[in-house]
Amino acid sequence: MYEAAIGLEVHLHLKTRTKAFCGCQADYFGAPPNTHTCPVCLGLPGSLPVPNKKAVEFGLRLALALGSRIPERLVFHRKNYFYPDLPKNYQISQYDLPLGQGGSLPLGERTVRIKRLHLEEDAGKSLHLEDRTLLDLNRAGSPLIELVTEPDLKSPEETRLFLQRIQALVQTLGISEASPEEGKMRADVNVSVRRAGEPLGTKVEIKNLNSFKSVQRALEYEIRRQTEILRRGERVKQATLGFEEGSGKTYPMRTKEEEADYRYFPEPDIPPVPISREWLEAIRQDLPELPWEKEGRYQALGIKAQDAEVLAYTPSLARFLDRALSLGQASPQALANWLLADVAGLLNDRGLTLEQTRLTPEGLARLVALFERGEITSRVAKELLPEVLEGKDPEALVRERGLRVVADEGALRAVVAEVIAAMPEAAESVRQGKLKALDALVGQVMRRTKGQAKPELVRRFLLEALGVG
Ligand code: ADP
Ligand code: ZN
Ligand code: MG
Repeated sequence: MYEAAIGLEVHLHLKTRTKAFCGCQADYFGAPPNTHTCPVCLGLPGSLPVPNKKAVEFGLRLALALGSRIPERLVFHRKNYFYPDLPKNYQISQYDLPLGQGGSLPLGERTVRIKRLHLEEDAGKSLHLEDRTLLDLNRAGSPLIELVTEPDLKSPEETRLFLQRIQALVQTLGISEASPEEGKMRADVNVSVRRAGEPLGTKVEIKNLNSFKSVQRALEYEIRRQTEILRRGERVKQATLGFEEGSGKTYPMRTKEEEADYRYFPEPDIPPVPISREWLEAIRQDLPELPWEKEGRYQALGIKAQDAEVLAYTPSLARFLDRALSLGQASPQALANWLLADVAGLLNDRGLTLEQTRLTPEGLARLVALFERGEITSRVAKELLPEVLEGKDPEALVRERGLRVVADEGALRAVVAEVIAAMPEAAESVRQGKLKALDALVGQVMRRTKGQAKPELVRRFLLEALGVG
């Protein structure tokens, strides 16, 4: 048997107002090329970088959440390499004293160890046309966190889940939008295969994967490829690979620089930034509830483990659920069911996100509460949901349309008698013990009461009227 070991290097764009070392607006998405630049991020001679305190704070939030060791001072290094979209010919990064070392992230029954996380600046963008290359330096100097894991991940699916967890964590912390489609979350993936029980094999690195789906597909291909090499008794060669979406295959890229090629040295223009324990404590106090803490709280409220997990790791749902819960109208599990099944299904059909609808936590809580108090049937509740999604008040809808459950037992028994008279064959089958025929009768009663009778009650009255059960 062969096993894969996977380690990630994840880049996250921080959502600070300004760039990492200058005052340029960091939110340049959609802006015309080269309009968010200044002498510092263009690397003009004589300009001096000043570290963005907010970027450091955002990094510290993540380091604290992951339980990483945090140094007493932050030291920046220059990582030297030449590329046209890197105007200084070096990237300000961190080297031997990163913002965080160690720590871990829970993943179901397991934990994935974090190796390190550090702050750095992004490069600009090159746009390669047929006969020339254009440069856009709006992105140059924007703040990034690079998070490096130990090779603890074991499968492509688990890796995808881990990325979703990191995404949920940084969104919950409010430090990054972590949207891969905007390039605000990118991952390089390292993977090796070995015979079970043996030491880690030779790894390859797959670079620049910009969706969770591509990460998963690239890993599936690469694990298969390496396993076949090992089966033939050959060795995997260390390499840097790219991934081609069309064919679903990896291919060799340039040979990667060795660490020595980068000639890291301390950034002489930025004195070390002290990280006082008071500052750190203040940031810790200010941390929001973390997804795995949320998951525990939801479970304690009686929400099924699997639902609790999905809700806690989907920040938009968790925010919505927390507000609905705080109203104390509907039970936690019922709210969870409605959010994960009915609401999610409707959003999916319409291609909308929760934020794009007018559904409010109050609206959903009131609808679910009407159902839970037995005032409307689940069928009526489901029928009303699309309108509640459009912002209508469920109680008003029930009132205006007279949708309250038929609570008058006499009236319901009368409808039951009518239906038995109208469907003698089905009634006879039930009398003879063919209970399958009961469904048709129940359906007819429900139709005649416009879905406002409780199905259990209808069933009971029918059986009583037919002298069965
Ligand atoms: P390098 O010095 O080659 O950059 P690092 O030790 O810094 O290697 O690790 C880079 C990434 O590669 C990390 O995410 C780490 O988990 C992963 N990694 C290291 N060794 C292996 C291996 N044998 N198999 C899979 N991933 C590995
Ligand atoms: Zn600038
Ligand atoms: Mg490395």
